[in-house]
Amino acid sequence: MKSIREYNLGMEQVSFYQDEESVRVLFENIIDAFAYHKVLYNSEGKPVDYVFLEVNSAFEKLTSLKRKDIIGKTVLEFYPNTESYWIETYGRVAKTGISEKIENYSRELGEWYEVNVCSPKKDHFVAIFQEITERMLQRQKMEVALAESEAKYKSLLDERKLLEKELLDAKEEAKSADSAKSMFLANMSHEIRTPITEIMGMIQLTQMTTKLTERQQEYLRLSKLACDSLLVIINDVLDYSKIEAGVMKLNIAGFRTRTMINEVVSLFQHSSKKNGLIMDVFIEEDVPDDLLGDPFRLRQIISNLLGNSVKYTKEGRIDLYLKKIEDFNNNRVKLECMVKDTGIGISPENIELLFNSFSQVGSISTGQYVGTGLGLAISKRLVEMMSGEIWVESIKGEGSNFHFTCILERGGCEDGSAPGPVAKLVDSSKETSQSLLLVEDNVVIRQFIEVLARKKGWQVTVSENGKEAVDSFQQKKFDGILMDVQMPVMDGFTAIEIIRRMEKDTGSRRTPIIAMTAYALKGDKEKCLEAGMDDYLTKPLDVDQFYEVVSRWIS
Ligand code: ADP
Repeated sequence: MKSIREYNLGMEQVSFYQDEESVRVLFENIIDAFAYHKVLYNSEGKPVDYVFLEVNSAFEKLTSLKRKDIIGKTVLEFYPNTESYWIETYGRVAKTGISEKIENYSRELGEWYEVNVCSPKKDHFVAIFQEITERMLQRQKMEVALAESEAKYKSLLDERKLLEKELLDAKEEAKSADSAKSMFLANMSHEIRTPITEIMGMIQLTQMTTKLTERQQEYLRLSKLACDSLLVIINDVLDYSKIEAGVMKLNIAGFRTRTMINEVVSLFQHSSKKNGLIMDVFIEEDVPDDLLGDPFRLRQIISNLLGNSVKYTKEGRIDLYLKKIEDFNNNRVKLECMVKDTGIGISPENIELLFNSFSQVGSISTGQYVGTGLGLAISKRLVEMMSGEIWVESIKGEGSNFHFTCILERGGCEDGSAPGPVAKLVDSSKETSQSLLLVEDNVVIRQFIEVLARKKGWQVTVSENGKEAVDSFQQKKFDGILMDVQMPVMDGFTAIEIIRRMEKDTGSRRTPIIAMTAYALKGDKEKCLEAGMDDYLTKPLDVDQFYEVVSRWIS
């Protein structure tokens, strides 16, 4: 046997190609159909047909044509419907000598083929066929499935887009419906508030100026209580609907912490004192006095807690504690406020329900207290808007400690005013002769305020609208102006703006202006502040609050 080194491979290769029998056996045994042709051209050199020169057995099997029948014949003789694509492709390969691999359908054979075409010599070509109908059908199926799923995806996408649009439209609609609802409620509550203000004014006037029997006094006291309750309900429903509609916003302003707390506490000191309760305030020294937050909403939360404590405490004391629990380095502080009472307390199972809307656990157990059950739910949402928490610790029969925290910014007061004094109840016996300009279009409220003012000895000049007020202001200087906001001819905002401009132009001193706004109309307070008011009173007017605020500014 020869070693591999002795073997003459080169000679062997040459002999393979020169050995016609080897080549014939090779092509004969190729599994794929094989055919060798010569291309025929027309007079313009365009390929128009081709002649069969050689085929193998696989070709015979594939086409059912016999070698002896087709050699020397052209394709169009057997298959007159052969597509021009085949002839053109074969002609191109035979002409250029560049091999091609094609996949195409043959109408004559009714199958798909993958064909390797090459040209061993000019104008000749070899075609090696593989029948791929099954593969093509699978591919077509896949393509159809792909196209279908793409179409499905697209229609899903379109559907989703449509749904998104519908959702957006619905959201917009809901938003405008919500703001319409909120606006309706705000307007409604304002409309309801005006007659209540008048009723309350008249009740208080009758109480102050008329000689009444004890029974009449009691009837009037009860009527006033009913008006107070009605107002609480209107305010709660309005606030709650604003929260629900997502339109409740904090109105950030600078305020004096101690003044704000003492003002709120003073509102309850009177009633708690009357009930024999002690009410005290403890504010730790490191609580900043100059803060930026929403003082109006803070007052509301504290009022709700104090109001509840007064409502649910028969004897003992109610204390308010305020301390700083965290100092952030970005000028913000976390405060904790606690209202502690020695009242009826709350059972553990009821504590869970407390901060839900419309839960009146007290009334469930005793049936004797009134309210909407919204106060704590509203307070909870307000506290959350201030990045805080609200919770309660209570022992039934012993009392409750309501806590809430909030995060506020330091240094909101631009006026540099001194820290607020400890609130005192107004000494209504002290008489002075300060001059007041009262601007109010409602005759009943006007009469009520006039009586209140005269009781203090304040001189009152009346204007029925903003324009009259500006005229009066031009003629006379006043110690203070009480300005209604909504009036015909000229509203309060415009009048305040004009008065402030006049003061600036003439260099005269700034007259304190106290706006009288309906608490319900969001934005009134801000507009008043922007327009240049110094303070504001909410309608219906509370007599104590009226005296406290007005005396503070005009004395
Ligand atoms: P309401 O308007 O009914 O007072 P709140 O949400 O303010 O609504 O209070 C819900 C319920 O929580 C009250 O009805 C009462 O049962 C209970 N509650 C609140 N504060 C106190 C308290 N200090 N002592 C005892 N029960 C209280």
